[in-house]
Amino acid sequence: MKTSINQQTLQTHQGQEANRILRNCVHCGFCNATCPTYQLTGDELDGPRGRIYLIKQVLEGKHASSLTQSHLDRCLTCRNCESTCPSGVDYGELLDIGRQMVSEQNRRTIRDRVRRYMVRKLFLTRPLFNAAIATAQSIRTLLPDVVKQKVPPKPDTMLDWPTAEHQRKIILLPGCVQPALQPNIDRAAAIVLDRLGIQTLRVPETGCCGGISHHLDAYEEARATIKGNIDCWWPYIEDNQIEAIISTATGCEVTIKEYGRMLVDDPSYRYKAARISALSKDLSEYVAEQDQIQSSETGFDQKVAFHPPCTLQHGQRIRGTVESLLRTSGMQLVNFQESHLCCGSAGTYSILQKAMAEQLRDRKMQHIESARPDVIVTANIGCLLHLQSGTHIPVKHWIELLV
Ligand code: SF4
Ligand code: SF4
Repeated sequence: MKTSINQQTLQTHQGQEANRILRNCVHCGFCNATCPTYQLTGDELDGPRGRIYLIKQVLEGKHASSLTQSHLDRCLTCRNCESTCPSGVDYGELLDIGRQMVSEQNRRTIRDRVRRYMVRKLFLTRPLFNAAIATAQSIRTLLPDVVKQKVPPKPDTMLDWPTAEHQRKIILLPGCVQPALQPNIDRAAAIVLDRLGIQTLRVPETGCCGGISHHLDAYEEARATIKGNIDCWWPYIEDNQIEAIISTATGCEVTIKEYGRMLVDDPSYRYKAARISALSKDLSEYVAEQDQIQSSETGFDQKVAFHPPCTLQHGQRIRGTVESLLRTSGMQLVNFQESHLCCGSAGTYSILQKAMAEQLRDRKMQHIESARPDVIVTANIGCLLHLQSGTHIPVKHWIELLV
Protein backbone atom coordinates (compact mmCIF):
# COMPACT_ATOMS: atom_id res chain seq x y z
CA MET A 1 0.00 0.00 0.00
CA LYS A 2 1.30 3.44 -0.93
CA THR A 3 1.72 5.77 2.05
CA SER A 4 2.42 9.47 2.49
CA ILE A 5 3.00 9.83 6.22
CA ASN A 6 4.07 13.32 7.25
CA GLN A 7 7.81 13.90 7.78
CA GLN A 8 7.52 14.75 11.46
CA THR A 9 5.82 11.41 12.23
CA LEU A 10 8.28 9.55 9.99
CA GLN A 11 11.16 10.75 12.16
CA THR A 12 9.82 8.83 15.15
CA HIS A 13 10.37 5.12 15.73
CA GLN A 14 6.61 4.57 15.84
CA GLY A 15 6.11 6.46 12.56
CA GLN A 16 8.73 4.32 10.82
CA GLU A 17 7.25 1.10 12.18
CA ALA A 18 3.74 2.13 11.11
CA ASN A 19 5.02 3.01 7.63
CA ARG A 20 6.74 -0.38 7.31
CA ILE A 21 3.61 -2.23 8.42
CA LEU A 22 1.25 -0.24 6.18
CA ARG A 23 3.43 -0.84 3.14
CA ASN A 24 3.07 -4.60 3.64
CA CYS A 25 -0.72 -4.41 3.39
CA VAL A 26 -2.03 -5.03 -0.13
CA HIS A 27 -5.61 -4.22 0.85
CA CYS A 28 -6.86 -7.64 -0.29
CA GLY A 29 -9.41 -7.91 2.55
CA PHE A 30 -8.79 -11.62 3.29
CA CYS A 31 -8.49 -10.65 6.96
CA ASN A 32 -12.12 -9.49 7.09
CA ALA A 33 -13.24 -13.11 6.71
CA THR A 34 -11.92 -14.06 10.17
CA CYS A 35 -12.57 -10.79 12.01
CA PRO A 36 -15.21 -11.31 14.72
CA THR A 37 -16.35 -7.67 14.82
CA TYR A 38 -16.71 -7.51 11.03
CA GLN A 39 -18.78 -10.69 11.17
CA LEU A 40 -21.09 -9.09 13.73
CA THR A 41 -21.59 -5.64 12.23
CA GLY A 42 -20.77 -6.18 8.52
CA ASP A 43 -19.27 -2.66 8.53
CA GLU A 44 -15.98 -2.35 6.63
CA LEU A 45 -14.69 0.03 9.33
CA ASP A 46 -15.24 -2.68 11.96
CA GLY A 47 -12.87 -5.00 10.11
CA PRO A 48 -9.07 -4.98 9.99
CA ARG A 49 -8.77 -3.56 6.47
CA GLY A 50 -11.02 -0.61 7.35
CA ARG A 51 -9.21 0.00 10.64
CA ILE A 52 -5.86 -0.08 8.86
CA TYR A 53 -7.21 2.55 6.50
CA LEU A 54 -8.42 4.73 9.39
CA ILE A 55 -4.99 4.53 11.08
CA LYS A 56 -3.28 5.37 7.77
CA GLN A 57 -5.42 8.49 7.42
CA VAL A 58 -4.45 9.67 10.92
CA LEU A 59 -0.74 9.00 10.22
CA GLU A 60 -1.08 11.00 7.02
CA GLY A 61 -2.39 14.02 8.90
CA LYS A 62 -6.18 13.66 9.05
CA HIS A 63 -7.49 14.64 12.49
CA ALA A 64 -8.85 11.65 14.41
CA SER A 65 -12.56 11.92 15.17
CA SER A 66 -14.51 10.17 17.91
CA LEU A 67 -15.98 7.93 15.18
CA THR A 68 -12.45 6.76 14.25
CA GLN A 69 -11.82 6.11 17.93
CA SER A 70 -15.01 4.08 18.34
CA HIS A 71 -14.08 1.80 15.41
CA LEU A 72 -10.65 1.22 16.97
CA ASP A 73 -12.22 0.70 20.41
CA ARG A 74 -14.47 -2.00 18.99
CA CYS A 75 -11.42 -4.01 17.89
CA LEU A 76 -10.85 -6.94 20.27
CA THR A 77 -7.07 -6.98 19.66
CA CYS A 78 -7.60 -10.70 19.07
CA ARG A 79 -5.11 -10.62 16.15
CA ASN A 80 -7.03 -13.26 14.23
CA CYS A 81 -6.44 -11.01 11.22
CA GLU A 82 -2.67 -11.49 11.63
CA SER A 83 -3.09 -15.26 11.43
CA THR A 84 -5.13 -14.88 8.24
CA CYS A 85 -3.10 -12.20 6.47
CA PRO A 86 -1.04 -13.63 3.58
CA SER A 87 1.26 -10.57 3.59
CA GLY A 88 2.37 -10.81 7.22
CA VAL A 89 0.92 -7.45 8.30
CA ASP A 90 1.67 -6.79 11.99
CA TYR A 91 -1.80 -5.50 12.69
CA GLY A 92 -1.46 -5.61 16.51
CA GLU A 93 1.57 -3.35 16.50
CA LEU A 94 -0.08 -0.94 14.04
CA LEU A 95 -3.22 -0.83 16.18
CA ASP A 96 -1.13 0.05 19.25
CA ILE A 97 0.43 2.96 17.37
CA GLY A 98 -2.90 4.08 15.91
CA ARG A 99 -4.75 3.94 19.21
CA GLN A 100 -2.08 5.98 20.95
CA MET A 101 -2.13 8.68 18.25
CA VAL A 102 -5.91 8.80 18.23
CA SER A 103 -6.11 9.06 22.04
CA GLU A 104 -3.66 12.01 21.94
CA GLN A 105 -5.74 13.83 19.31
CA ASN A 106 -9.26 13.02 20.41
CA ARG A 107 -10.14 13.66 24.04
CA ARG A 108 -12.68 11.12 25.25
CA THR A 109 -15.92 12.19 26.94
CA ILE A 110 -15.78 12.65 30.73
CA ARG A 111 -18.00 9.58 31.17
CA ASP A 112 -15.64 7.44 29.11
CA ARG A 113 -12.55 8.75 30.89
CA VAL A 114 -14.06 8.17 34.34
CA ARG A 115 -15.13 4.65 33.39
CA ARG A 116 -11.67 3.75 32.10
CA TYR A 117 -9.99 5.30 35.15
CA MET A 118 -12.23 3.34 37.54
CA VAL A 119 -11.62 0.03 35.74
CA ARG A 120 -7.85 0.66 35.89
CA LYS A 121 -7.85 1.63 39.54
CA LEU A 122 -10.05 -1.29 40.58
CA PHE A 123 -7.97 -3.90 38.72
CA LEU A 124 -4.57 -2.43 39.53
CA THR A 125 -5.05 -1.69 43.25
CA ARG A 126 -4.71 -5.19 44.69
CA PRO A 127 -6.01 -4.48 48.24
CA LEU A 128 -9.07 -2.73 46.77
CA PHE A 129 -9.77 -5.52 44.26
CA ASN A 130 -9.21 -8.28 46.84
CA ALA A 131 -11.56 -6.57 49.31
CA ALA A 132 -14.22 -6.07 46.61
CA ILE A 133 -14.08 -9.75 45.59
CA ALA A 134 -14.06 -11.01 49.21
CA THR A 135 -17.14 -8.89 49.97
CA ALA A 136 -18.94 -9.99 46.78
CA GLN A 137 -18.17 -13.66 47.51
CA SER A 138 -19.51 -13.37 51.06
CA ILE A 139 -22.90 -12.07 49.81
CA ARG A 140 -22.83 -13.91 46.48
CA THR A 141 -26.28 -15.49 46.84
CA LEU A 142 -27.83 -12.04 47.26
CA LEU A 143 -26.16 -10.55 44.18
CA PRO A 144 -28.13 -9.95 40.98
CA ASP A 145 -27.43 -12.62 38.34
CA VAL A 146 -25.50 -10.24 36.10
CA VAL A 147 -22.94 -9.56 38.89
CA LYS A 148 -22.99 -13.09 40.29
CA GLN A 149 -21.93 -14.47 36.88
CA LYS A 150 -18.71 -12.46 37.14
CA VAL A 151 -17.81 -13.47 40.70
CA PRO A 152 -16.84 -17.13 41.11
CA PRO A 153 -17.55 -18.67 44.52
CA LYS A 154 -14.61 -19.23 46.86
CA PRO A 155 -12.96 -22.58 46.07
CA ASP A 156 -13.98 -25.39 48.48
CA THR A 157 -10.39 -26.46 48.93
CA MET A 158 -7.21 -24.49 48.46
CA LEU A 159 -4.31 -26.39 46.89
CA ASP A 160 -1.03 -26.28 48.84
CA TRP A 161 1.85 -24.35 47.31
CA PRO A 162 4.81 -26.78 47.04
CA THR A 163 7.61 -26.22 49.51
CA ALA A 164 10.43 -28.23 47.89
CA GLU A 165 13.45 -26.34 46.57
CA HIS A 166 14.89 -27.26 43.17
CA GLN A 167 17.91 -26.11 41.26
CA ARG A 168 15.75 -25.36 38.22
CA LYS A 169 13.55 -22.32 38.82
CA ILE A 170 11.09 -20.08 37.02
CA ILE A 171 9.41 -16.79 37.97
CA LEU A 172 5.62 -16.81 37.93
CA LEU A 173 3.75 -13.55 37.32
CA PRO A 174 0.71 -13.62 39.62
CA GLY A 175 -1.42 -11.18 37.59
CA CYS A 176 -3.86 -8.58 38.93
CA VAL A 177 -7.16 -10.39 39.29
CA GLN A 178 -6.44 -14.11 39.18
CA PRO A 179 -5.10 -14.60 42.74
CA ALA A 180 -8.35 -13.22 44.18
CA LEU A 181 -10.72 -14.88 41.70
CA GLN A 182 -9.14 -18.27 40.99
CA PRO A 183 -6.26 -18.76 43.46
CA ASN A 184 -5.88 -22.47 42.63
CA ILE A 185 -4.67 -21.89 39.06
CA ASP A 186 -1.18 -20.66 39.98
CA ARG A 187 -1.01 -23.28 42.74
CA ALA A 188 -1.85 -26.00 40.20
CA ALA A 189 0.91 -24.73 37.90
CA ALA A 190 3.41 -24.73 40.79
CA ILE A 191 2.43 -28.31 41.73
CA VAL A 192 2.81 -29.61 38.15
CA LEU A 193 6.17 -27.84 37.77
CA ASP A 194 7.31 -29.14 41.18
CA ARG A 195 6.64 -32.70 39.97
CA LEU A 196 8.85 -31.93 37.00
CA GLY A 197 11.64 -30.81 39.34
CA ILE A 198 11.14 -27.09 38.79
CA GLN A 199 10.63 -24.55 41.56
CA THR A 200 8.16 -21.69 41.04
CA LEU A 201 9.26 -18.34 42.47
CA ARG A 202 6.87 -15.50 43.25
CA VAL A 203 8.60 -12.13 43.39
CA PRO A 204 6.53 -10.05 45.84
CA GLU A 205 7.07 -6.65 44.20
CA THR A 206 5.79 -7.85 40.79
CA GLY A 207 2.94 -5.70 39.46
CA CYS A 208 0.46 -6.07 36.61
CA CYS A 209 2.05 -7.15 33.30
CA GLY A 210 1.23 -3.63 32.04
CA GLY A 211 -1.49 -4.78 29.64
CA ILE A 212 -4.45 -3.20 31.44
CA SER A 213 -2.92 0.31 31.50
CA HIS A 214 -1.68 -0.08 27.92
CA HIS A 215 -5.11 -1.05 26.61
CA LEU A 216 -6.86 1.74 28.51
CA ASP A 217 -4.84 4.64 27.04
CA ALA A 218 -2.56 4.99 30.12
CA TYR A 219 0.65 4.54 28.14
CA GLU A 220 3.05 6.15 30.63
CA GLU A 221 1.55 4.15 33.47
CA ALA A 222 2.04 0.97 31.40
CA ARG A 223 5.71 1.80 30.77
CA ALA A 224 6.29 2.55 34.46
CA THR A 225 4.64 -0.75 35.46
CA ILE A 226 6.74 -2.71 32.98
CA LYS A 227 9.95 -1.04 34.17
CA GLY A 228 8.98 -1.85 37.78
CA ASN A 229 8.66 -5.54 36.84
CA ILE A 230 11.97 -5.50 35.00
CA ASP A 231 13.69 -3.95 38.04
CA CYS A 232 12.36 -6.57 40.43
CA TRP A 233 13.06 -9.54 38.13
CA TRP A 234 16.46 -8.40 36.93
CA PRO A 235 18.55 -9.66 39.90
CA TYR A 236 17.28 -13.21 39.24
CA ILE A 237 18.08 -12.92 35.54
CA GLU A 238 21.48 -11.31 36.00
CA ASP A 239 22.53 -14.18 38.27
CA ASN A 240 21.10 -16.80 35.87
CA GLN A 241 18.88 -18.10 38.65
CA ILE A 242 15.81 -18.68 36.49
CA GLU A 243 15.17 -20.34 33.15
CA ALA A 244 11.82 -18.75 32.23
CA ILE A 245 9.23 -16.13 33.15
CA ILE A 246 5.75 -17.59 33.05
CA SER A 247 2.19 -16.49 33.57
CA THR A 248 -0.79 -18.83 33.74
CA ALA A 249 -2.76 -16.16 31.86
CA THR A 250 -1.96 -16.05 28.14
CA GLY A 251 -3.09 -12.40 28.04
CA CYS A 252 -0.28 -11.46 30.47
CA GLU A 253 2.27 -13.72 28.77
CA VAL A 254 1.75 -12.15 25.37
CA THR A 255 2.36 -8.72 26.93
CA ILE A 256 5.63 -9.84 28.56
CA LYS A 257 6.71 -11.23 25.18
CA GLU A 258 6.28 -7.69 23.83
CA TYR A 259 8.31 -5.86 26.52
CA GLY A 260 11.26 -5.74 24.12
CA ARG A 261 9.21 -4.01 21.45
CA MET A 262 7.43 -1.70 23.88
CA LEU A 263 10.67 -0.35 25.37
CA VAL A 264 12.82 -0.40 22.23
CA ASP A 265 13.08 3.42 22.34
CA ASP A 266 14.34 3.49 25.93
CA PRO A 267 18.14 3.14 26.06
CA SER A 268 18.17 2.30 29.80
CA TYR A 269 15.69 -0.55 29.51
CA ARG A 270 15.95 -1.72 25.88
CA TYR A 271 18.42 -4.54 26.55
CA LYS A 272 16.77 -5.78 29.76
CA ALA A 273 13.29 -5.70 28.22
CA ALA A 274 14.44 -7.72 25.21
CA ARG A 275 16.16 -10.25 27.49
CA ILE A 276 12.98 -10.66 29.55
CA SER A 277 10.86 -11.12 26.43
CA ALA A 278 13.27 -13.82 25.28
CA LEU A 279 12.90 -15.60 28.64
CA SER A 280 9.14 -15.33 28.59
CA LYS A 281 7.35 -18.60 27.84
CA ASP A 282 3.77 -19.64 27.76
CA LEU A 283 3.05 -22.23 30.46
CA SER A 284 2.02 -24.77 27.80
CA GLU A 285 5.15 -24.38 25.69
CA TYR A 286 7.36 -24.62 28.79
CA VAL A 287 5.59 -27.72 30.17
CA ALA A 288 5.63 -29.38 26.73
CA GLU A 289 9.43 -28.96 26.57
CA GLN A 290 9.89 -31.15 29.66
CA ASP A 291 10.61 -34.79 28.80
CA GLN A 292 8.93 -36.24 31.91
CA ILE A 293 5.50 -34.89 30.87
CA GLN A 294 5.29 -37.55 28.15
CA SER A 295 4.59 -40.29 30.66
CA SER A 296 2.04 -38.60 32.95
CA GLU A 297 -1.47 -40.11 33.13
CA THR A 298 -4.21 -38.44 35.16
CA GLY A 299 -7.02 -40.99 34.80
CA PHE A 300 -9.46 -38.14 33.99
CA ASP A 301 -12.27 -39.73 31.97
CA GLN A 302 -14.53 -36.79 31.11
CA LYS A 303 -14.96 -35.11 27.72
CA VAL A 304 -12.98 -31.89 27.54
CA ALA A 305 -13.44 -28.90 25.20
CA PHE A 306 -10.39 -26.62 25.00
CA HIS A 307 -11.03 -22.99 24.09
CA PRO A 308 -7.70 -21.56 22.86
CA PRO A 309 -7.47 -17.87 23.84
CA CYS A 310 -6.59 -15.46 21.03
CA THR A 311 -3.54 -14.39 23.02
CA LEU A 312 -2.32 -18.00 22.73
CA GLN A 313 -3.26 -18.99 19.16
CA HIS A 314 -2.90 -15.61 17.40
CA GLY A 315 -0.85 -13.42 19.77
CA GLN A 316 1.80 -16.05 20.63
CA ARG A 317 1.09 -18.29 17.63
CA ILE A 318 1.05 -21.40 19.79
CA ARG A 319 -1.44 -23.89 18.41
CA GLY A 320 -2.12 -27.50 19.37
CA THR A 321 0.28 -27.58 22.35
CA VAL A 322 -2.30 -27.58 25.16
CA GLU A 323 -4.44 -30.07 23.23
CA SER A 324 -1.50 -32.40 22.85
CA LEU A 325 -0.57 -32.10 26.56
CA LEU A 326 -4.13 -32.97 27.54
CA ARG A 327 -4.26 -35.93 25.15
CA THR A 328 -0.89 -37.15 26.44
CA SER A 329 -2.38 -37.07 29.91
CA GLY A 330 -5.16 -39.41 28.78
CA MET A 331 -7.99 -36.93 28.25
CA GLN A 332 -10.65 -37.11 25.58
CA LEU A 333 -10.87 -33.82 23.67
CA VAL A 334 -13.96 -32.81 21.70
CA ASN A 335 -13.82 -30.52 18.67
CA PHE A 336 -16.17 -27.62 18.00
CA GLN A 337 -16.66 -25.11 15.18
CA GLU A 338 -15.04 -21.67 15.02
CA SER A 339 -12.41 -22.42 17.67
CA HIS A 340 -10.23 -19.77 15.96
CA LEU A 341 -12.67 -16.98 16.87
CA CYS A 342 -12.52 -14.74 19.95
CA CYS A 343 -14.95 -15.46 22.82
CA GLY A 344 -15.43 -11.72 23.40
CA SER A 345 -13.53 -11.45 26.67
CA ALA A 346 -10.44 -9.61 25.35
CA GLY A 347 -9.16 -8.07 28.60
CA THR A 348 -11.42 -5.21 29.63
CA TYR A 349 -13.44 -5.45 26.37
CA SER A 350 -16.18 -7.47 28.09
CA ILE A 351 -16.70 -4.51 30.45
CA LEU A 352 -16.30 -1.64 27.97
CA GLN A 353 -18.01 -3.25 24.94
CA LYS A 354 -20.46 -5.43 26.83
CA ALA A 355 -23.06 -5.99 24.09
CA MET A 356 -20.60 -7.21 21.45
CA ALA A 357 -18.69 -9.25 24.03
CA GLU A 358 -21.88 -11.08 25.01
CA GLN A 359 -22.88 -11.76 21.41
CA LEU A 360 -19.47 -13.31 20.77
CA ARG A 361 -19.63 -15.33 23.99
CA ASP A 362 -23.07 -16.71 23.17
CA ARG A 363 -21.97 -17.66 19.66
CA LYS A 364 -18.90 -19.41 21.11
CA MET A 365 -20.97 -21.23 23.75
CA GLN A 366 -23.43 -22.46 21.15
CA HIS A 367 -20.59 -24.17 19.29
CA ILE A 368 -18.93 -25.54 22.41
CA GLU A 369 -22.13 -26.84 23.97
CA SER A 370 -23.11 -28.63 20.76
CA ALA A 371 -19.99 -30.79 21.23
CA ARG A 372 -21.40 -31.83 24.67
CA PRO A 373 -18.26 -31.59 26.81
CA ASP A 374 -18.31 -32.37 30.56
CA VAL A 375 -15.79 -29.63 31.20
CA ILE A 376 -14.47 -26.64 29.25
CA VAL A 377 -10.86 -25.59 29.72
CA THR A 378 -8.99 -22.52 28.58
CA ALA A 379 -5.69 -20.77 29.32
CA ASN A 380 -6.60 -17.23 30.32
CA ILE A 381 -8.50 -15.97 33.36
CA GLY A 382 -10.46 -13.40 31.30
CA CYS A 383 -11.76 -16.05 28.87
CA LEU A 384 -12.47 -18.44 31.74
CA LEU A 385 -14.70 -15.98 33.62
CA HIS A 386 -16.36 -14.68 30.47
CA LEU A 387 -17.22 -18.17 29.21
CA GLN A 388 -18.40 -19.26 32.66
CA SER A 389 -20.85 -16.35 32.72
CA GLY A 390 -22.58 -17.90 29.68
CA THR A 391 -22.81 -21.60 30.61
CA HIS A 392 -23.54 -24.06 33.41
CA ILE A 393 -20.76 -26.39 32.21
CA PRO A 394 -17.75 -25.91 34.53
CA VAL A 395 -14.95 -23.85 32.97
CA LYS A 396 -11.41 -24.35 34.29
CA HIS A 397 -7.80 -23.63 33.44
CA TRP A 398 -6.24 -26.61 31.62
CA ILE A 399 -3.40 -26.88 34.17
CA GLU A 400 -5.98 -27.65 36.89
CA LEU A 401 -6.76 -30.95 35.11
CA LEU A 402 -3.14 -32.05 35.36
CA VAL A 403 -2.93 -31.83 39.19
S1 SF4 B 1 -3.98 -6.87 6.50
FE1 SF4 B 1 -3.34 -8.55 5.17
S2 SF4 B 1 -5.23 -9.66 4.68
FE2 SF4 B 1 -5.85 -7.63 5.49
S3 SF4 B 1 -6.07 -6.33 3.70
FE3 SF4 B 1 -3.96 -6.05 4.40
S4 SF4 B 1 -2.74 -7.58 3.25
FE4 SF4 B 1 -4.91 -8.16 3.03
S1 SF4 C 1 -7.65 -7.84 16.02
FE1 SF4 C 1 -9.50 -9.14 15.88
S2 SF4 C 1 -11.24 -7.71 16.07
FE2 SF4 C 1 -9.40 -6.47 15.63
S3 SF4 C 1 -9.39 -6.22 13.42
FE3 SF4 C 1 -8.12 -8.03 13.84
S4 SF4 C 1 -9.52 -9.79 13.71
FE4 SF4 C 1 -10.79 -7.92 13.87
